Amino acid sequence: MMRVLLINPPTGTLIRDDRCQVPVANLSSGLRMPLDLACLASVFQAHGWESRVGDYQAYSDGADKFWREFHNFAPDLLIVNCTTPTLRADLAFCAQVKKARPGVKIIVKGAHFAVEAKEVLADALFIDAAIKQEAEFAAADLAAGWANEKILGLVYRAGEEIKENPNRPFEKNLDLAPLPARDLLDNDLYVRPDTGDRMTSVLVGRGCANNCAFCLVKAVAGSVDCRRSVDSVVNEIRECLDKYKIKNFYLRADNFTAERAWVAAFCEAIIRRGLPVEWFANSRVDTLDSGLSKLMKRAGCVMLGLGIESGNQEILDQANKKITLDQSRAAVVACRSAGILTYLFFVLGLPGESRETLEQTRRFALELDGDFVEFHEAYPFPGTEIFVSAQAGGLVADELFGRTVFNAPALAVVSKTELDVFRRRVTRQFYLRPRQIFRAVKRVRSWAMLKNYLRKAWRVMK
Ligand code: SF4
Repeated sequence: MMRVLLINPPTGTLIRDDRCQVPVANLSSGLRMPLDLACLASVFQAHGWESRVGDYQAYSDGADKFWREFHNFAPDLLIVNCTTPTLRADLAFCAQVKKARPGVKIIVKGAHFAVEAKEVLADALFIDAAIKQEAEFAAADLAAGWANEKILGLVYRAGEEIKENPNRPFEKNLDLAPLPARDLLDNDLYVRPDTGDRMTSVLVGRGCANNCAFCLVKAVAGSVDCRRSVDSVVNEIRECLDKYKIKNFYLRADNFTAERAWVAAFCEAIIRRGLPVEWFANSRVDTLDSGLSKLMKRAGCVMLGLGIESGNQEILDQANKKITLDQSRAAVVACRSAGILTYLFFVLGLPGESRETLEQTRRFALELDGDFVEFHEAYPFPGTEIFVSAQAGGLVADELFGRTVFNAPALAVVSKTELDVFRRRVTRQFYLRPRQIFRAVKRVRSWAMLKNYLRKAWRVMK
């Protein structure tokens, strides 16, 4: 029987969900279950492979654990989930693996390869192939033993040459996607950040019709919002409740509320079936309203992540975000009136950013007064428009493994150091307001929750 090991390498603890590549240390949420790897594993299982999933980034002794399990299991194929910020470390890790066991085939996946697979393979001679997109469907072809040249979206080494197959069209019928092999995961690793209860991710859909300049979605998931049927998602949730005793869910979609009718049907199905679940999702502020928020709350929605990005309208317009400050205000009010917590995301250092616009963002974050905030610094991922601007501005260095080094904020006047200082200062200011502390205390329902809040607070503040 062929053996496959699918891993998040022990090279930095990040959310490694394709377009979302964020160090967990920066988050007041936490580690997410490796949904993609678990889906790929289930494909290999279905084709008779012995499959294992290792989220080695999740353990303090992740590297030791990997080597022990790798030597014991002796896989024929290793699939490594890489991110752009950790690319160098991920590839160095793959090089060690190949050296230790030259016979193992190593395939990498991750958003970076949707754009720069050939460049990476040209330098990283120890990598056998890279999957550009729609990894679970490419995995089905690999597991079935198809020849490399027939697998859409695969870039592979053939002797001295690197061959790139045509892209795989984005699958519209996501009910064809495999369900994740949760039986291969250590499900206790993935918990709800406030209560500490088990939590899992469920794929709702992927793709987005918008084209924000800092976002990778077009490259990795396409510009059409494709989603699973309501029945398929609700049945998976039911299975998680029955088989894994998981009641908390991150419903993964690039914009959960993009399709109002789908969301309404989903909420009604959860309410009708009486499923005792609580869930989280991400939404655009212009696809939310008070009626929908109230229905979502009745169906168990606890919190929504909203991309606010900036407190300056010109920056939003330049980033092609296509939202207004008033729409952000209205979305936060709609959530609050429905009793849904808000987790507001901002991106600092976008093209046009200055000290004045940063100050406007600071004031806007305080004015919106969400329940949680996260300030990210714009990162020019290859495949985004800000990568092109950063490159034109000479801000991206040419390096050995693709062009991944971010020297300075893309075309912003402020330096990266200044952005770091700003991010920490405003995060502290946001959370240390008496009103915010009072609200957090009111939410605490147990000692475990209090401990979790204090731990997260410490992580975010330091
Ligand atoms: S709305 Fe913008 S940031 Fe959100 S997924 Fe779509 S393109 Fe990306």
